[in-house]
Amino acid sequence: AKEQGTSCYRFFDDEMNRYLSEKMQLENGLRSAIRSGEFKLHYQPKMAIDTGRISGVEALIRWYHPNLGLIPPDRFIPLAETSGMIAEIDAWVIREACRQNRIWTRQGMQPLPVAVNISGRHFEQGELPQLIQSIAAETGMDLRLLTLEITEGIFIRNHDKVVAQLEALRSLGLRVSIDDFGTGYSSLNQLQRLPVDEVKLDRTFMKGIANDPKKSRIVGAIAELLRSLQLHVVVEGIETREDYRYIEKLQCEEAQGYWLSRPLPAEQFISFLQTHAKE
Ligand code: C2E
Ligand code: CA
Ligand code: CA
Ligand code: CA
Repeated sequence: AKEQGTSCYRFFDDEMNRYLSEKMQLENGLRSAIRSGEFKLHYQPKMAIDTGRISGVEALIRWYHPNLGLIPPDRFIPLAETSGMIAEIDAWVIREACRQNRIWTRQGMQPLPVAVNISGRHFEQGELPQLIQSIAAETGMDLRLLTLEITEGIFIRNHDKVVAQLEALRSLGLRVSIDDFGTGYSSLNQLQRLPVDEVKLDRTFMKGIANDPKKSRIVGAIAELLRSLQLHVVVEGIETREDYRYIEKLQCEEAQGYWLSRPLPAEQFISFLQTHAKE
């Protein structure tokens, strides 16, 4: 087919595009998305419950696809995991979050802890500690300000290898957080043996908590247990003032959710911080 020239290729491409499923369009698009600068990080603040101060920020990836528009991570991260692209994306996210963090510090902001989400697949490859060290060297990031958010699922396969790698990561100074806690496999009993610093209670626990006394007792009990294991507890999915009133009384350190702020582009995040500081 090669000998038939470029016009034939163009025809072929057009036809292809028409018939390609969206999934394939996304999968193909992923390969060039980093190079084309189509990814962006948005930043969602976390608040310390005792002081009301902004205590950190979570970086969440967004993909601005040239034809399909804004694609949320739930639609392309799983695809990136199965198509072998996730390691590259995770690396981009870590680098970008560290780079942005340094910019903020240079602009005179208080050093702000930043959390990034890391796919389980990445842990199986074993190169994360080295990668993060080189990103830190490159960007000047203080790794004590970095938290990696992982989900319980990563411990199912290669448990020992994952634990060893988490230990190596923590020895670099960064923190490890279990995301979406309570939805997956790990029991509280298992948790005490894992090298983690923080647990994020899944937002399904928070849904409707203000109108459900049973639910708030469950969350309270879990939070207390986690605390007794010396784990830092973050509650996510706080959507309303009423939700916040409920969790304020529980033994949790930080809150995150639409009530405080939606994830924001870097520029808007700065304005949010300034406004919040004045309140
Ligand atoms: P997650 O890490 O559990 O992130 C929280 C998700 O809940 C985010 O959705 C956030 O926008 C949303 N959220 C925050 N506050 C509230 C709230 O009060 N109510 C409700 N209903 N939702 C809230 P988002 O950004 O669409 O991310 C979805 C998931 O995609 C994330 O869940 C995470 O698992 C994954 N993800 C996001 N960014 C990255 C990334 O950079 N790398 C990897 N590997 N995964 C990512
Ligand atoms: Ca997360
Ligand atoms: Ca979560
Ligand atoms: Ca999630």
